[in-house]
Amino acid sequence: MTNSCHLLFSCSIVNNFFAPRIAALGQAHYAAPVPTRFTVLGSGSGGNASFIETDQTRLLVDAGLSGRQIRLRLGQLGRSPETLDGILLTHEHTDHTQGLKALCKKLDVPVYCNRLTADELRFRVETPLDIRQFITGEPFEIGDMQIENFSVPHDAQDPVGFHIRTPDGSVGILTDLGQTTRLVLERVRGANALFIEANYDLNRLQEDTRRPWAIKQRIMSRHGHLSNGDAAEAIETLANGTLRNVVLGHLSSDCNTPEIARNRVAEALGQAGINDIGITVSTQGEPTETITL
Ligand SMILES: [Zn+2]
Ligand SMILES: [Zn+2]
Repeated sequence: MTNSCHLLFSCSIVNNFFAPRIAALGQAHYAAPVPTRFTVLGSGSGGNASFIETDQTRLLVDAGLSGRQIRLRLGQLGRSPETLDGILLTHEHTDHTQGLKALCKKLDVPVYCNRLTADELRFRVETPLDIRQFITGEPFEIGDMQIENFSVPHDAQDPVGFHIRTPDGSVGILTDLGQTTRLVLERVRGANALFIEANYDLNRLQEDTRRPWAIKQRIMSRHGHLSNGDAAEAIETLANGTLRNVVLGHLSSDCNTPEIARNRVAEALGQAGINDIGITVSTQGEPTETITL
């Protein structure tokens, strides 16, 4: 079985150790202060990558698009892989890591992941990686961002979600998880923006004749993926006035559409009387609009 999320499937930190490598990059990439911005470069079963920047720090969250696509899409934002301060990884699955080889072959950008994820990558990615291991559950800093991470239930070695805190606010990353436990939701509570998986529409998945039943069971399992309804419920639980934007992601190309996902979430929020949260749907083919915190 291939190791991809489509079929279903991942250092104790000394803070100043990870100071931004502006000098090493040979260019002043922060000419003028910018507010924190978050953009999903692409998301779906075929590959996932997001970009977050403050005026001091630039990070990729997952590198599951090809190196070429990551360069191209950062270019659309006026950025380049050369100005990245790091790549954060949620887990080792191919649709979150397949761009690493191309990116790290040419650049010495640090890759931040936990030990079990690192072990998998060392085994699988032929290019040497500058891996900075973090301990699951222990926060660390990269530049002016504080990175909180926490375990999520998913069929990978040691998958995590993130709550990235910046001087302007924070962004939660919840992708590739079979369920949103109360514990997981508490870890992203208070985020101003949330990237959350909305993998499948339950009816479409159940009616899909191409997937064997065993695969459907795995997708719907506690270590699989979130449905549109699961995402809607989680957003409703987290709505408390500080959450202003959600980006739905990791949509299945067979068992979901941007319209279905958006409508399902909008309907649930509307019924709950929540009307102050913007909904963006990320797609595989192009970056989302940039969200400014
Ligand atoms: Zn996965
Ligand atoms: Zn995935």
